Amino acid sequence: MRALVSNDDGIHSPGIEALERAAKAAGFETWVVAPDREQSATSHALTLTRPLRVVKTGERSWVVDGTPTDCVNLAICRILKDVRPDFVFSGINLGPNLGDDVTYSGTVAAAFEGTLLGVPSIAFSLDCRKDGGAGPDFSEAEKVAEEVIRLALSRPMAEDVLWNVNVPEGRPTGIRATRMGRRRYGESVVEKVDPRGRPYYWIGGSHVDTHSDGSDLTTVAEGLVSVTPLHLDLTAYRSLEDLAARLAGSRANGPDRS
Ligand code: MN
Repeated sequence: MRALVSNDDGIHSPGIEALERAAKAAGFETWVVAPDREQSATSHALTLTRPLRVVKTGERSWVVDGTPTDCVNLAICRILKDVRPDFVFSGINLGPNLGDDVTYSGTVAAAFEGTLLGVPSIAFSLDCRKDGGAGPDFSEAEKVAEEVIRLALSRPMAEDVLWNVNVPEGRPTGIRATRMGRRRYGESVVEKVDPRGRPYYWIGGSHVDTHSDGSDLTTVAEGLVSVTPLHLDLTAYRSLEDLAARLAGSRANGPDRS
């Protein structure tokens, strides 16, 4: 079995090494295609306006001067064209991808891209904001990753569904299937003045979480591993009927009122 391993923190992140070890321990041959530098919060961006350069850095390892989505796309469509991976594993991200983080996340986007290209994919993130300056410890997250990868192997994952895995700090007390919670980055813009007297802005990391039973945010806050199944279809099905009813009375469908 082959696994494509990527991330959004770049090839030099200790998190990608931990994920490679976890995949190997679960029986995979690992192939790494990762960004050459940090690409956090690049979401599902695909680079279309400039060429991409790929540099081979090892027997089964390449870096790309692009986004996580570029990496997975290039890997599956070109670099590993003749050795198609059975899985895509992304991470282990330095920091959580909980609630609304998901839509910003490059880590999750790499798994989205794998899923879009028909390869079962899992994103892994570690809630490690409070590392106290000692650097993040990926050892527990590595064990969790191996366990989750084995679960993914036990029977086929649902088509078009990726798993978003978040590991709490320290030793997890359990593992739970969750739904996306609400995390808002509303008031986090910092305004300062540069050396030439012009204002500049920096979008910070402070956020407001809404806790609710069964959410990824609450589960990780309680010290458990959160696994959220994410679907590529973003349609709000509960609103479809209401929208259809509104449109039925609109000018497009109604009598000509001109
Ligand atoms: Mn990241």
